[in-house]
Amino acid sequence: MLDLTFEAPKPKVIAGATGDWELVIGLEVHAQVASNAKLFSGASTAFGAEPNANVAFVDAAMPGMLPVINEFCVAQAVRTGLGLKAEINLTSAFDRKNYFYPDLPQGYQISQLYHPIVGEGEVLVDMGAGVARKVRIERIHLEQDAGKSVHDMDPHMSFVDLNRTGVALMEIVSRPDIRGPEEAAAYVGKLRQIMRYLGTCDGNMQNGNLRADVNVSVCRPGDYEKYQETQDFSHLGTRCEIKNMNSMRFIQQAIEYEARRQIGILEDGGSVDQETRLYDPDKGETRSMRSKEEAHDYRYFPCPDLLPLEIEQAWVDDIQAGLPELPDAKKARFVSDYGMTEYDASVLTAEVEDAAYFEKVADGRDGKLAANWVINELFGRLKKDDTDIKDSPVSPDQLGKIVGLISSDAISGKIAKDLFEIVYTEGGDPEEIVEARGMKQVTDTGAIEAAVDQIIADNPAQVEKAKVNPKLAGWFVGQVMKATGGKANPKAVNEIVSAKLGL
Ligand code: ADP
Ligand code: MG
Repeated sequence: MLDLTFEAPKPKVIAGATGDWELVIGLEVHAQVASNAKLFSGASTAFGAEPNANVAFVDAAMPGMLPVINEFCVAQAVRTGLGLKAEINLTSAFDRKNYFYPDLPQGYQISQLYHPIVGEGEVLVDMGAGVARKVRIERIHLEQDAGKSVHDMDPHMSFVDLNRTGVALMEIVSRPDIRGPEEAAAYVGKLRQIMRYLGTCDGNMQNGNLRADVNVSVCRPGDYEKYQETQDFSHLGTRCEIKNMNSMRFIQQAIEYEARRQIGILEDGGSVDQETRLYDPDKGETRSMRSKEEAHDYRYFPCPDLLPLEIEQAWVDDIQAGLPELPDAKKARFVSDYGMTEYDASVLTAEVEDAAYFEKVADGRDGKLAANWVINELFGRLKKDDTDIKDSPVSPDQLGKIVGLISSDAISGKIAKDLFEIVYTEGGDPEEIVEARGMKQVTDTGAIEAAVDQIIADNPAQVEKAKVNPKLAGWFVGQVMKATGGKANPKAVNEIVSAKLGL
């Protein structure tokens, strides 16, 4: 397989009054496990249900109720870990993280602080044009989501909706290896892509199924390299954590704002307080929510209701064996197998459904041409209609036939576009449509010659001009194409026009 070699992108630098500053970013991504049932109960995770319709006794923290681990959720976390080339911990354990919130009836969240199920891994974050950032994953742990307080339904009361309470989350913690706002968004995008390939998280950010806490600090050039050498965090600046971001655009805006805010403080001779902040998209700024809490504030302790989680290597191996081809591998294969550009391969592998569609179109055909048609014609047309690939009116089989007709010179590229539009709007078999509507390319040189002769006979003045200025041959080619309704083979027309004009 082709190895896409890459170089590391430069960190984002912000020029301050006292010199340059660099950004250092680490993300804690909360990904909702794609599972029909919750982490410790059989209640449904369906989105959009009536408030409190999906709540088991254990989710509502009824006295005496015991959590029971959902094996499927554990498998999804292992799958995600393997997809991020991470270490899988055969023994992990759940801890109680104690805090009070009206939407957390237990009074604690069950999480994994000391022994997470997944250890160190890494992600390659593609920044385009052979440039990529390697971001180390520190850990992934399983934990419960909280419910939702509703403050805007009644002027005097707040409500609570526990549908989300107890839904399984994977918290994916990165090392502070991200060096700019675009990289942060691209990192979230890459995690999302990998999890969608794996089927472990649907990545729906709007519904809050994928959200990130963004840690930002600034340092002087050279400091990050010292941190890398020693892994000593004292070389880095104090960080602030921006909570609960579920938009790529806002993640970038918040980082940019937060970095400049910290630089302002430092250049004024102040120091950054480690705190938790919220981003306000309307104002475009972050504001303090609370000072940073430490692990001891939560009085973490092993959850007495759950035994340590022991899994077997053979089970992990089974999951490994069942992993699909992942984005990096698929992209490299598309470049080497189909001879397409790295850029086209990125576009076609962005979503696993797009990649599958493309491979059906390209099956046994010209891969580069197929890529071109899927990206430019199909995606362009679907976008215009705001339609998803799974609802495409043109099937891979139909588009494949169109590509085949072009490759075999049965139709010209121009007619192919008309044919595509017919298939898109009316449906039908492309080969039959070409026959029935007489769209076949005219490769019969006799017919083309006759058309050329006619145009030459009708335009003696143009002929004289063309003899002095051979570029005018193009005009004759255009006329012939017009006369044949675009069906003449352009290559043949070019040759015949040149010959007849004696060019
Ligand atoms: P906590 O559990 O207190 O939030 P962690 O050590 O788990 O702290 O780190 C949380 C996140 O903050 C991680 O993604 C980590 O990479 C990131 N991080 C740690 N130090 C810095 C820093 N100086 N600048 C930016 N991000 C940082
Ligand atoms: Mg944290």
